[in-house]
Amino acid sequence: MLLSRYFLPVLRETPAEAQIVSHRLMLRSGMIKQASAGIYSWLPLGYRVLRNIERIVHEEQARAGHIPMLMPTVQSADLWRESGRYDDYGEEMLRISDRHGHDLLYGPTNEELITDIFRTHVQSYRDLPLTLYHIQWKFRDEIRPRFGIMRGREFYMKDGYNFDVDREAALHAYNRHMVSYLRTYERMGLQAIPMRAASGPIGGDDTHEFLVLADTGESEVFYDSEITDLKLGDRQLNYDDRDECAAIAREFTSPYARTDETHDEALFLNVPEARRRTSRGIEVGQIFYFGTKYSEPMGATVQDPQGRPVPVHMGSHGIGVSRLAGAIIEASHDDDGIIWPEEVAPFRVGIINVKQGDSATDSACEALYAKMSSAGIETLYDDREERAGAKFATMDLIGLPWRVTAGPRGLAKGKVELHCRRTGQSEELDLGAVVERMCA
Ligand code: ATP
Ligand code: MG
Repeated sequence: MLLSRYFLPVLRETPAEAQIVSHRLMLRSGMIKQASAGIYSWLPLGYRVLRNIERIVHEEQARAGHIPMLMPTVQSADLWRESGRYDDYGEEMLRISDRHGHDLLYGPTNEELITDIFRTHVQSYRDLPLTLYHIQWKFRDEIRPRFGIMRGREFYMKDGYNFDVDREAALHAYNRHMVSYLRTYERMGLQAIPMRAASGPIGGDDTHEFLVLADTGESEVFYDSEITDLKLGDRQLNYDDRDECAAIAREFTSPYARTDETHDEALFLNVPEARRRTSRGIEVGQIFYFGTKYSEPMGATVQDPQGRPVPVHMGSHGIGVSRLAGAIIEASHDDDGIIWPEEVAPFRVGIINVKQGDSATDSACEALYAKMSSAGIETLYDDREERAGAKFATMDLIGLPWRVTAGPRGLAKGKVELHCRRTGQSEELDLGAVVERMCA
């Protein structure tokens, strides 16, 4: 992408309304614009990040064997009356009525809709296990939307639903989700710690939230510092192996880690004092096992191997796709701006032409940009007639992992500078070696 033709409305001033760093940086780098309270437009740069997060979520869901689909944002109130949640959900639900006087709502979550799809089409245990998911906009009329897209009213969420013949099978689905979520967050450069949580309006007994530690997080968390040493890494995983998933879930849930909602001071005191930590965290996902809470009232049954109808065992699983953009920034920035992890970065490389208008420099940059693009490297070329200082500030602000700087002095020797945003290290490199280096 040529920056001169792109839409990147960077702000020089720090917006007064932004209280936390991710919100400030998202506004300053032209990623988002508030449309109304808790509702945002994703401008081109932010949209690229959102799509990358979404892609990682899809890829990891596919790896775990979960099936993507798409359900609507607007739902009929009748389904929610069947489960009893139309009244229970409270004021966070945006209730709408259409021109015929039918009650509709903008979905805050999808348990009812998916259970209705399931009961219509699945009758036998032979069709199980089944896990369906979608990534769709949700609306919750939060009393205090704040921190930009971190606590929005409209937000983008991956929500998945497992259907299993019995409790054991459903608990495997629970563990499988835990493992695949851990992998998902690690790919985004995040450590998200599973913590025993309270279930809220979704219901059920077994539930874990995934929290990214950050001073600006809304939850208070208590944990054994040992848990921060755990990493999934590139272990080979077989998501169908119940014992393997259970072992990983045990590994990551054995050290004490809870939010204030479930914190147990007596248990916490068993953790050696030097390892006890109290901090704040951002919730980036949650998994639930709730058994037959929805299948029973909504009549979602399957025939078991003996031919008896049994209500299907379910769980649901959510990842805050849009919130993650903010959480990643909270976890990865410095005074100059964002530091994107490679997999979510809006572009991988930025090219800075320090002497725009100098024909030799222009043509070297153009040739490099063309080569990068044809090698499939996502590149943003700053070809604007701007001072070099302003170009550097913009690049640092938007946080691309790599920057190539080209100027007449270096080019005279056939050299450019390659700079790594994360380490801050620079090296001189042959112009001809840049593409190869980026593909290594
Ligand atoms: P919270 O406690 O933060 O209000 P929740 O527990 O009500 O969230 P879930 O139903 O567990 O939310 O939704 C799954 C995920 O969606 C959450 O883990 C979070 O990452 C994200 N999410 C929930 N509410 C919002 C919101 N208002 N804005 C942005 N993301 C949200
Ligand atoms: Mg939650």
